[in-house]
Amino acid sequence: KTNSRGSHKLFNAELSQVMSSRARLLLDLKLALDHNQLTVVYQPQFCVQENRMTGVEVLVRWHHPERGMIPPSDFIPLAEQHGLICGITDFVMRTALHELIEAGLLYRDIQRVSFNVSAADFNGNESCDRFIANLSELPGDWSVIELELTESAALLNLEGVKQVLSVLNKRGVQVSLDDFGTGYSSLNTLRLLPIQEVKIDQSFVKDIVQNKQDAKLVRTILAMAKALHLRVVAEGVETHAQANYLINAGCEELQGFLYARPMEIDHLITFIGNLNQQKRAQS
Ligand code: C2E
Ligand code: MG
Ligand code: MG
Ligand code: MG
Repeated sequence: KTNSRGSHKLFNAELSQVMSSRARLLLDLKLALDHNQLTVVYQPQFCVQENRMTGVEVLVRWHHPERGMIPPSDFIPLAEQHGLICGITDFVMRTALHELIEAGLLYRDIQRVSFNVSAADFNGNESCDRFIANLSELPGDWSVIELELTESAALLNLEGVKQVLSVLNKRGVQVSLDDFGTGYSSLNTLRLLPIQEVKIDQSFVKDIVQNKQDAKLVRTILAMAKALHLRVVAEGVETHAQANYLINAGCEELQGFLYARPMEIDHLITFIGNLNQQKRAQS
């Protein structure tokens, strides 16, 4: 009996430690937004067969002054639970567009910029206005913008997502279903929302060469996407073997460490400069 009481106490102590570290993180995150600790990085996507960069995905980064780099998987869910995600989305969109426009890359070298968005980003007319305000600095067509939404995010707030996406989609904004195949009802989501692209989740790509089942699932996704005229991007491509398999299976666009890691704007400028130089040398 004493033992079980003891462990109960221990459990409480551990729990309260976890709670306070989460509360601490949340507090720090609120400060981070106001104190320039958040930045954005860009990961290029490629059409390998045409030897061409097709777009970049924008990913948020948090440089904590004491704890160093905190990965999005540690703070995005927290931000989603505590009403901070819209502030992060706005920051990420505005910062990335500002950096890309200032560097002269948008429309010239980059034809597609993909942003990750959450369920809470889709809250009626207010959200439409937020997106429209975030995009108002764009000097050209809004079809350079893509929103990446996971199926689980879509399902959390289907009506809201549908309403906002249909407004933005009419103005040219592209929509991608992220982590495709990992949710509960991928097909239903495709049926209900205006979607132009699916991103094959990295968990399917990881063992595609060895695992026949995964390979068949990927081929099925590709066939479905083709029938529905959807673009397909495979994410998490790390090896040539995976890339070759995907290309042979008909996947046109690839993203992953094999080609480029997420990088800051300065590095992206150099990276694109090198690509352009290679192209000139070849022609
Ligand atoms: P995601 O949207 O599926 O992004 C892909 C993740 O895979 C990124 O992790 C990227 O760095 C990583 N990745 C890319 N290529 C490879 C590869 O070859 N191998 C492996 N192992 N990983 C690769 P990251 O940046 O840590 O982001 C994790 C998740 O956090 C994202 O998954 C997305 O769901 C979320 N996230 C990131 N930035 C934002 C944001 O600005 N807003 C929102 N709402 N969510 C974000
Ligand atoms: Mg994504
Ligand atoms: Mg993904
Ligand atoms: Mg993912």
